[in-house]
Amino acid sequence: MIPQETVNRILDSAQIVDVVGDFVTLKKRGANHIACCPFHNEKTPSFSVSASKGIYKCFGCGKSGTAVGFVMEHENMSYTEALKYLAKKYHIEVVEKEETAEEIAQRQKHESLMLVSEYAGKFFQESMNTPEGQNIAYQYFRSRGLEDETIRNYGLGWAPLNRKSLSEAARAAGYKEEFLIETGLSIKYDDGRLVDRFYDRVIFPIHSVSGRVIAFGGRTLKTDKSVAKYVNSPETEIYVKSRSLYGIYFAKNDISKQDRCILVEGYLDVLSMHQLGIKNVVASSGTSLTVEQIRLIRKFTNNITIIYDGDSAGIKAALRGIGLVLKEGMNVKVVLLPDGQDPDDFARRHTLEEVQDHIAQNEQDFINFKTDLLLDEAGNDPIKKANLINDIADTIALIPDAVVRAVYVRTCADRFEIEERIMADRVSKTRTDMIVADEKQKERERQRAVAGGYQPRRQERPASEMPPMPQDMAGMDVPPPMPDGYYPEDYGAPAMDVPVEMPPVMIPEGPVVINEPYLAPCEKELLGFILEEGCTELQFDVDSKYYVEGETINVAEFIDGTLADDEEDFVNQSYRKVYDEYFRMYDEGLTQQQMQSRLLNSMDPEIAAVAKELLIEKYQITVKNYEQSLTATSTILVQFIPKALLAYHCKKIELILKGLTAELTTEQDPDRQIDILAKISDYNRARTKLNNELGRV
Ligand SMILES: [Zn+2]
Repeated sequence: MIPQETVNRILDSAQIVDVVGDFVTLKKRGANHIACCPFHNEKTPSFSVSASKGIYKCFGCGKSGTAVGFVMEHENMSYTEALKYLAKKYHIEVVEKEETAEEIAQRQKHESLMLVSEYAGKFFQESMNTPEGQNIAYQYFRSRGLEDETIRNYGLGWAPLNRKSLSEAARAAGYKEEFLIETGLSIKYDDGRLVDRFYDRVIFPIHSVSGRVIAFGGRTLKTDKSVAKYVNSPETEIYVKSRSLYGIYFAKNDISKQDRCILVEGYLDVLSMHQLGIKNVVASSGTSLTVEQIRLIRKFTNNITIIYDGDSAGIKAALRGIGLVLKEGMNVKVVLLPDGQDPDDFARRHTLEEVQDHIAQNEQDFINFKTDLLLDEAGNDPIKKANLINDIADTIALIPDAVVRAVYVRTCADRFEIEERIMADRVSKTRTDMIVADEKQKERERQRAVAGGYQPRRQERPASEMPPMPQDMAGMDVPPPMPDGYYPEDYGAPAMDVPVEMPPVMIPEGPVVINEPYLAPCEKELLGFILEEGCTELQFDVDSKYYVEGETINVAEFIDGTLADDEEDFVNQSYRKVYDEYFRMYDEGLTQQQMQSRLLNSMDPEIAAVAKELLIEKYQITVKNYEQSLTATSTILVQFIPKALLAYHCKKIELILKGLTAELTTEQDPDRQIDILAKISDYNRARTKLNNELGRV
């Protein structure tokens, strides 16, 4: 763990313009810097950076955050990784704090598994240089049209014939048996022998988003049907299949640049396309897409183009799992390749231009694609046609955006030559059912969680969307005697739903807790003034009732003092929390900028969420009017802060009045009734006075 003092030093040192400038070319405009957004595709810049506030905001795609957040988002790092990156940039030494024994063990184990994987990756790569590797593996890769650069880039390798090569070499190099076993690289037999999972196979390493080797796919070159075509790493602490995409590390920058992700099926499809020059390509490695894979893609783009072979199996594969993609609000297009070619064949037989042309000309919107396909199948059979209409309507119902849904309803109704209303009714019915089912599911999970330590499954996939990998199932290796705890599925076939918890990539933005919505806008506004301009002096006019000769007061103290006079505390939990945290730091003597940065980067997601919301919201307004805002800031503060305080006080009184009125209707005792009436009249007077001050009638 990085000690808090070091974290603070890093946060204080990180200059957003500097940090973002390492990745994006920034141009100065007014008080801000602008650029074309690195997170979405655009020609005119809508990405804005405020040096003084230490935040960025894209007015196109809405992405926003701090320097740390930018590094996390852009480089796909965890919070700690991003801090370390910044520490290095600013030459700040990071001496990690002592962790608990458990934390150390966990981190060391994680790192050990990574190191063993990396070692194995190098081992397989180096085995390519042996005569065996040259004659078998290298020859094979070359025969598939792969160039040396691609082979090296993607770390392709060879697992030697000798079934102990890796295990023995790794043990000799000092890697522990337990980690070899846990990564699935080695298998231990009952008789104590340690053997390799991968042998006599060409190796495709699988990289994490940040480029570390986390797993392997091994393909046999034997034609023997009793040998499984593919053997894959089992799921481990560092490799969760449903969260990995083959090639994502090499493709991520191009995916965001082109604002499109091309999805293919296999390793070789990715390699050939990439080699040809289509670099925004990843593979789901045979399984249908999972929600987590879709969300991984969505970090870089909202557009997916699926390229599959044009045979019926390819089409079926394209149809599977798409429901999930649509449900996540992404745009899906489908491209079919001519006569049974897979993307690998197609890329090898055509030039870059031809492939790009084919994609551009044959790219079809998913719903239209499905409609065409099924219409063809249904022919003139009225029952089949009715089923098809319902099927398409159910698919449209998955799309979260109501406008997009409406457009599809219209075009599909046209295609089927039915009334739009019929289609629309079905869509809305399915949608209602779906939302109800989702709610029930969530409720069940909540109850299960309450019932006792029962973790809800990471995701629920309908069985139809979890087909086994055909390649894996085609003729399993004759299973060796399994050591205790191993199941045949553990060998070769991918383990499906092993609940492994990975450390979160992003700090989740916790929900902001609002207890009293009536007061929330006022509290938010006041808190906004504090977070934005807390340390700015208020220069009241000499004739202002707030003017005190010889005394100056800043925004934070003025607001805090006024609230204290009225014995008021913020009612809404999240706002009060941020308020208290601000003044805790204020008392420590931190500068406004330091406090902003601490709040924005708070480990408490509730605090970070409120700070982000407030600072970025205000920032949005100042960016829009940056020409005028410079002159007016002090005037605005002097005018608006007292008003905001009066308005808040007024709303509190209105709440009390509401309570008293309710009390009056249920109170039976006449004496108490008179008391209540007296109070109501007092508060009414106070309210009228406040309203007069506010200039309200
Ligand atoms: Zn953007």
